[in-house]
Amino acid sequence: MPQPGQEALVSALRPGETVTARIDWERRHKLMRFHTATHLLCHLVPQLVNGCSITPESARLDFNMTDPLEKEALSDGIARLVGAAHAVEIGAITDEELDANPALVKSMSVQPPRGTGRIRTIRIGDAIDFQPCGGTHVANTSEIGRVVVTKIEKKSATTRRVVLGFA
Ligand SMILES: [Zn+2]
Repeated sequence: MPQPGQEALVSALRPGETVTARIDWERRHKLMRFHTATHLLCHLVPQLVNGCSITPESARLDFNMTDPLEKEALSDGIARLVGAAHAVEIGAITDEELDANPALVKSMSVQPPRGTGRIRTIRIGDAIDFQPCGGTHVANTSEIGRVVVTKIEKKSATTRRVVLGFA
């Protein structure tokens, strides 16, 4: 999806045109680190997710829950999982396997795309996290580095927002 200000650039492209893409690695790596950290949060807070946002400066995950969350405990939990250097593996399951295990989808609002018969999955460690995901991830949790919970907000009666930052 084009960012604000990029619409003119995108609409100027014609089908079949050759383009050169370049990854802003510094920005991309921060997004990969934060995104992988949100998977660790899913392990620490085993509740359904009803919102998510990731920028190079911060990340947030909204959990559908009413119980309070502890900032320090979550930061410690993330540090422990980062320190344990769990492998992050990309895999795939079939539509039928997903149908047989609907609880694999932890997002309340977004369902994995179907149509090709294969759905990309992410597995962290033996049992840290396993879910359909098309995002960008680091290859090992140790690569996440120092990420801490900077804020926990009660966004609504049934939503707890956890905000992550780089320490
Ligand atoms: Zn992911």
